[in-house]
Amino acid sequence: MLIWGLCVIYRTLGRGVFFCRRCGGDREYRHRAGRRYVTVFFIPLIPLMKTGEHVQCLTCKIRYVTEVLKLPTTVQMQLAHVAGMRAVVAIMLRAGDPASPIARRRALEAVTGTGDKSYDEDALETDLAEPADTARPKISALGAQLQIEAREWCLAEAIRIAMADGPLTGAERAAAEHLAGALGMTQAQAIGVIALTEQNTVLSPGGNDPPGAPKSRKGFAPP
Ligand SMILES: [Zn+2]
Repeated sequence: MLIWGLCVIYRTLGRGVFFCRRCGGDREYRHRAGRRYVTVFFIPLIPLMKTGEHVQCLTCKIRYVTEVLKLPTTVQMQLAHVAGMRAVVAIMLRAGDPASPIARRRALEAVTGTGDKSYDEDALETDLAEPADTARPKISALGAQLQIEAREWCLAEAIRIAMADGPLTGAERAAAEHLAGALGMTQAQAIGVIALTEQNTVLSPGGNDPPGAPKSRKGFAPP
């Protein structure tokens, strides 16, 4: 008596790292395609139709449609964040006074705040020397990953850099509007964020004290 059956045989098309929603982080995957076979005595003999491709997380074993590979991994998003922020601060510093120590310090803080702790004066100098047209795609990539509130925060950061050494100049205001456009914000959103940030940023005669900087106030000044 013949024993018939059905089985699916998978072959691996590729491997790599993707963002697994179930695991909530970057994980290794394998990209597989399957085909059904008729088995005779448990041996797959007659190929039938393909079952389609899938991507399987090697950690939680969950299978996804292959479109999941189009989503950026956490590492890629992090890199895009840093690259975008570097481009943002370079544009804003160039629109104002790129030599202002207080504005440069704020710019460094904005970039290190995105996770690149090694960003320093030398790296900033390199970014300032980059041609301006290389910045826009990086800023657009950053904006595409951010929710609207995060885009607004990013623009406000740039405006605070510009205002570190005094009120917004015409060139800095124009740069802020340009940045907003590159981040994917409307003109109305840009105007709103610029107005709100100007209102909330208190200017002092020598520029703003960056957070943590020693403050000299009446009565507290060293003798
Ligand atoms: Zn997983």
